[in-house]
Amino acid sequence: MKHTKIICTIGPASLDVSLLRKMYSSGMDAVRINTVHGDIDQYESIIKTVRMIADIPIIMDVKGPDLRVSLINDLLVEKGTRIWVGFSKKEMVSFTGDCYKDVKIGDWIHFEDGILESKVIKKQRHKICIEFIKKGILKDKKNVSVIGRRLTIPSLTKNDLVCIMLAKRLKIDYIALSYTRDAEDILNLRKLIGKSDIGIIAKIENPDGLKSIDPIIEAAQGVMVARGSLGVELPLQKVPMIQKSIIKKCIAKGKLVITATQMLESMINNHRPTRAEASDVANAILDGSDAIMLSGETAIGKYPVKTVEVMASIAKEVELNVGCQLCNESSSDLSDAITNSVYSLCQKTHIDHILILTKTGHTARMMSRFRSGKMLIAVTPDQNVKRKLHLFFGVFPVFFKAPVLDMGLHAILYCYHEKILSKRDIVVCTGGMYTEKPMMSNLIHVQKVSDLIRYKDN
Ligand code: PGA
Ligand code: MN
Repeated sequence: MKHTKIICTIGPASLDVSLLRKMYSSGMDAVRINTVHGDIDQYESIIKTVRMIADIPIIMDVKGPDLRVSLINDLLVEKGTRIWVGFSKKEMVSFTGDCYKDVKIGDWIHFEDGILESKVIKKQRHKICIEFIKKGILKDKKNVSVIGRRLTIPSLTKNDLVCIMLAKRLKIDYIALSYTRDAEDILNLRKLIGKSDIGIIAKIENPDGLKSIDPIIEAAQGVMVARGSLGVELPLQKVPMIQKSIIKKCIAKGKLVITATQMLESMINNHRPTRAEASDVANAILDGSDAIMLSGETAIGKYPVKTVEVMASIAKEVELNVGCQLCNESSSDLSDAITNSVYSLCQKTHIDHILILTKTGHTARMMSRFRSGKMLIAVTPDQNVKRKLHLFFGVFPVFFKAPVLDMGLHAILYCYHEKILSKRDIVVCTGGMYTEKPMMSNLIHVQKVSDLIRYKDN
């Protein structure tokens, strides 16, 4: 079993049922719907198709304050070309969010992750005039970065609201919020989501998000290191250490962490990655990512299945070398002490797998933080919890409503009958038993499966 989770962005290259099936059997663990492209009917059909294939998490990526350029035909620009940009669709060229107030003369505006650079030279009647620095092609829907400016555009657009309604209606698992600036962005989204238990993934894409990283991690269920945008909004040499630092903070808090963008970029066109890309994937895993993400590779690439295969093979090769990154914090919390003890048991004695009894997913998330190298079989009576847990490193969630009395033993027997465990396995069973308290671990029980079967038969 692979411990590192692979997220595939779905697009024209992967919308076919048999392709999706192949991607799933090659190691795809979750899908991302990028709502910059496509329309609401297409998203609905992607969700329904994915659900037909597998019970895996679906992430809807809403664009928030992600600024894009909108124009009818691609525009060839030369060094020195000047164009006027407005903020309504009526204009020849416009931005998707109104940042007229925020943009100042002399600001740098980058398009398409920095491929095209321009400078603001005039502002007039709610339009800005920009001048290009080099020759290039300005393309519709490409991202726009106003370097170093905090934009006051709302954190959710009209289109985002429509997407969120769909996410609620179809009960998808996670919403990823682009350009998260602070914990308030997360709390506002949480209010909109209301009672439904959709997890929120904060995409960290610019200096604002980085500045508020601690409260954002606290407020969100997970974080995405959005390296594509980070490398434009900040000097790109800063991105590797940012990646390591965000991952470390997330692991400490038991929050999901995803490393994204350009992981196997050259496989959009080639059937093999570069050595540097293979190393990048390996290093993101060694840094401690729960999940690694494919974007264009699976959305528009020529080799979506092959890309997943390559990523999975790199993951399997390196993931057992991931060490525990948790500082030895002394905590008086019983749950912390329990998961710590389970980890040290695994270090000291022969344990094959860890079996976790979990209603909310809490013990499984806390256990995953240790990167113990063991398969974490998370047995839960909640389908939604099961799907969400599937994104965490090393977690293999199982849906089972075990009877309350001797819950652990029933769970072990169930996993044995389902061929998840074998007779020879020795498991340590942990989680919450005989307690009404949520998010509480109080159990450590080491059990050889064959012994249990013998006792049961007698
Ligand atoms: P995007 O975000 O794919 O939505 O642009 C990821 C990134 O910026 O890395
Ligand atoms: Mn981005």
